[in-house]
Amino acid sequence: SRSLTVNNVVKEYVAGTQVLKGISFEVSGRSTVAIIGPSGTGKSTLLRCINRLIEPTGGEILIAGRDITKLSGRELRQARHYIGMVFQEFNLVERLSVIENVLCGRLGFTSVWRAWLRKYHQEDIDRAFELIEKVGLGDFATARADSLSGGQRQRVGIARAVMQNPDIIMADEPTSSLDPKTSVEIMELLNEFSADQDIPLLINIHDVNLAKRFADRIIGMSEGHVVFDGKPEELKDEH
Ligand code: ADP
Ligand code: ADP
Repeated sequence: SRSLTVNNVVKEYVAGTQVLKGISFEVSGRSTVAIIGPSGTGKSTLLRCINRLIEPTGGEILIAGRDITKLSGRELRQARHYIGMVFQEFNLVERLSVIENVLCGRLGFTSVWRAWLRKYHQEDIDRAFELIEKVGLGDFATARADSLSGGQRQRVGIARAVMQNPDIIMADEPTSSLDPKTSVEIMELLNEFSADQDIPLLINIHDVNLAKRFADRIIGMSEGHVVFDGKPEELKDEH
């Protein structure tokens, strides 16, 4: 089933200094989990461990039951596809169209051209169009990414993440580059997809009000520890 298990994860960038001091939690099914906490507390480090841009020093991370902590090479690249990433700065290929961005996933520019040499299956193309429609960009499928507004770009980012049929969607500050009204629309869209496709959603978010409004669970971090894990309404104001 679609789930993420983080079990006693420790990260040291410098030997002897733990930035993550034993993080544990589990997420499954349709749920929106917001990670909040002061800056420098280890939130990005945690996300980077989960999507294996970096290797945790200790502990286990299971995605749909598969331990991804000790993979390398081809297996590691494969495992990154279990996670649909949504980024603060969208990370689109600016010179390509919306449909190309959604089809090509989060490949680097060279990979995109390599990917174009392969033929897309019609069913993938159909699914990409369907997702573009769902995120409200039906009229923009062939528009270039660099002609879109920030909110529209993030909609492409969401379609791209869902396109890879992930076991979990992770969003790293997905609204920090957007105005308040657009931020709310993007959070609503993320929640819709999570509910619709039954995919857990893990969001690193600095806006506590947005977290309280859209998450059904909040994980509060401080100095490398989980200091709160519960419903938004249980969160006291000092967090
Ligand atoms: P947050 O996302 O909560 O702001 P980070 O995970 O970015 O926190 O940072 C947590 C701590 O780890 C900070 O003290 C930061 O300086 C340190 N840190 C982050 N990245 C690195 C790195 N690549 N090398 C060494 N220390 C790092
Ligand atoms: P390529 O293999 O074509 O070089 P990658 O997919 O490795 O492209 O990376 C493209 C860019 O996206 C890089 O800058 C990388 O840091 C970033 N990136 C790729 N995957 C992730 C991920 N799971 N989380 C965060 N950043 C990522």
